[in-house]
Amino acid sequence: MEIAIIGAGVVGSTTAFQLLEQFGKRISVTVFAVEFSPSTTSDVSSGLWSPRGLNGRSPEKVLKWSKDMHDFFEKLWKSGEANEAGVSLISVTRITTNNTQRYNDLWRDVVFDHTDLDQKVIERLSQQHKRSYTSGIYFTTFTCEPSLLLPHLYNRIQAADGRIERKRIESFEDLDTFDLVINCTRIGAQKLVKDDAELKAVRGQVMRVEAPWIFDVLLDDSDNSNYIIPNMNTVVLGGTHQTNDYRKKVDANDRRFIYKGCSNLNPSLKRAEIFRDMVGLRPGRDQVRLERDLFITKRGKQLQMIHNYGHGGSGVTLSYGCAINVADIVNAIMMADTNKRKSIL
Ligand SMILES: Cc1cc2nc3c(=O)[nH]c(=O)nc-3n(C[C@H](O)[C@H](O)[C@H](O)COP(=O)(O)OP(=O)(O)OC[C@H]3O[C@@H](n4cnc5c(N)ncnc54)[C@H](O)[C@@H]3O)c2cc1C
Repeated sequence: MEIAIIGAGVVGSTTAFQLLEQFGKRISVTVFAVEFSPSTTSDVSSGLWSPRGLNGRSPEKVLKWSKDMHDFFEKLWKSGEANEAGVSLISVTRITTNNTQRYNDLWRDVVFDHTDLDQKVIERLSQQHKRSYTSGIYFTTFTCEPSLLLPHLYNRIQAADGRIERKRIESFEDLDTFDLVINCTRIGAQKLVKDDAELKAVRGQVMRVEAPWIFDVLLDDSDNSNYIIPNMNTVVLGGTHQTNDYRKKVDANDRRFIYKGCSNLNPSLKRAEIFRDMVGLRPGRDQVRLERDLFITKRGKQLQMIHNYGHGGSGVTLSYGCAINVADIVNAIMMADTNKRKSIL
């Protein structure tokens, strides 16, 4: 089966990787993309394992996808590939001033050492940050430096005879020689799919700094707040969540908000060297679109499709689980094709 994957961010790359791992020589895979690492949205991401969408329409799916990624990180970490793939095991403190916010702890057993912060710790942090925190949690999980993870995946795709090609796909029509097309185009899906009114950009601006003395994550979950997430080579200071905002330029006000807010959480950051400011557009959607579809080409061919986009602010966290889900669909398509051939014979 000849498969085309559109997109070389974390979603397209994990999908290509998983298909080649699972089906080997039974398939051929070509990844088409305009942008590659370090220029994708995935490269802007802080790479923290952090599921969102568990309050949405399909919490069981989100939990399964997220757990699969946690297991994948753990496997990379334990296999000695952590350095190359940019994966770190890291402790995380999440706090909030929001009285009504309840931490969704469906994933309590996925991470390590998950515990609620006790009142003394909440008071100490409130004093340090001059904030009025109401609750918080602590746990250990994984983060990755996306600009290391993506090249690692590209290498593994090519080592398994997958092809990677720089090409803009103007229409699914361009790929009508393939048996199956998998759409992992993030916001690019707006141009290709056209009728998805649910998909919208959620702009995120962050600042990467050099602060090798910071070893753990601090995330203020209150509205309009800040976070500090170390990756392997730099520390990500964040960040904004601006819905329906398509600006890709760095905004000076956002920059001030990030620098001031993060220095308040950790004053040592005032001495950190700024590496670069980054902006990315998260593919915002009520839920991930992961489903089969058919595209009828101008020549009347029924082109099999799988959509895999709309991962919002958790694309890294959900990517590998979604890739496994796509592989299940591919398996079903291959089985149906085999049965059809048998019935003709
Ligand atoms: C500031 C910020 C922080 C974040 N932090 C986290 C985090 O800590 N943890 C987490 O899990 N998630 C995080 N995210 C979310 C995560 O980055 C996204 O959900 C994820 O990157 C989406 O991956 P993707 O592969 O779908 O998109 P992308 O990485 O953008 O890849 C899309 C690919 O599709 C290609 N493409 C699009 N249209 C076409 C076309 N017509 N023809 C050919 N190629 C095309 C592009 O060239 C690109 O290769 C963050 C996002 C932002 C902005």
